[in-house]
Amino acid sequence: MKIGMLGGGQLARMLALAGIPLGCEFTIFSPDREACAAPLGRSCCYDYSDAEALMDLAASSDVIGFEFENVPVRTLDFLADHLPVRPGPEALRLAQDRVHEKELFTELDIPCAAFFPVDSLEDLHRAAALIGLPAVLKARRQGYDGRGQTLIRQMDEMAPAWQLLGGQPAILESLVDFDREISVIAVRAASGETAFYALSENTHHHGILRLAVSQPHDSMQAQAERYAQRLLDRLDYVGVLALELFQAGDHLLANEYAPRVHNSGHWTIEGAATSQFENHLRAIMGLPLGSTALRGVAATINLIGTVPDMARILGTPNTCLHLYGKACKPGRKLGHVTVCADSMKQLNQILSDLSGLFSSEAVSAVAEAGHYQNQKQGGCA
Ligand code: AMP
Repeated sequence: MKIGMLGGGQLARMLALAGIPLGCEFTIFSPDREACAAPLGRSCCYDYSDAEALMDLAASSDVIGFEFENVPVRTLDFLADHLPVRPGPEALRLAQDRVHEKELFTELDIPCAAFFPVDSLEDLHRAAALIGLPAVLKARRQGYDGRGQTLIRQMDEMAPAWQLLGGQPAILESLVDFDREISVIAVRAASGETAFYALSENTHHHGILRLAVSQPHDSMQAQAERYAQRLLDRLDYVGVLALELFQAGDHLLANEYAPRVHNSGHWTIEGAATSQFENHLRAIMGLPLGSTALRGVAATINLIGTVPDMARILGTPNTCLHLYGKACKPGRKLGHVTVCADSMKQLNQILSDLSGLFSSEAVSAVAEAGHYQNQKQGGCA
């Protein structure tokens, strides 16, 4: 099957790596000349608004997918007039705007932090009076990996926070006093069949995911699946969807959803019977889903900014290295390491053996692996 992929980053690259053995042919459509997925398919380097190039993409594809949230929705709308776009434009439209996303959670009775749209400094004062401080001010659109957000602890931080975001439309959210961050990776086939992976427990530093660890038999699994199922059904969704959640006591609060494969699901490549990447492709191609069963326990350590000694990583048993073919740059996700084990104890042992190889943020994430963390200020720049 011919898959037209919008976006050419590491997620597109790993989708292509999963799809090539299934006989898929990829067109990687991205305006980025250095798109790291481009070598894995036919590369189309055009702007997302180039109608002629999009018509060519439609003519040479059986289905359209996308790998990141900042693809313009009108590009999907345009393509959807010609061939299936999976997941559909509505899932992306709602995910691109934090206010619409939180309104969707509210509509579906999925708990989330108290929130208020903010379009001016006056709105911000009104919102703070309603929600209380501390709270997090986030850009409504285009924010990712903790960018475009700032923590407001007290009243005199309001004006600087508003200035920092450059006066763009924003949302104020109450600061959640969470015990840990988790995500559930869900997948829905075109037939409506759904499947879920074991929860992932996620450690962030400055808003960037550092460590994700699979959680077999987690007591919050059923609650997380129920919330993800509501999103899948409401959006008539096809493909993988990731729901990021905060756990506070016995309660889960939704933070955001991603209408795509997700960084916290990278451990599924080695740690599950069928990876999130293969299942996403199966779903968008109209094929049956593969088993999401765990193979032991697994963790993903993100390689941010620099790549440590390859020989030492590869010399450590039960460890796999994935490099994305991107140039080193501070803060950039360059690759990840997956560690697999038969038990959590063994996994934590390997993680601590490896921890000397990684940046200090990853080391502290690894050192804390397996424990609930209180990161009240973790993601806020
Ligand atoms: P986001 O870009 O919304 O995924 O936020 C990045 C990270 O910031 C999250 O993974 C959390 O660690 C932190 N964060 C975001 N929103 C909140 C919130 N309302 N309360 C507490 N921490 C938050």
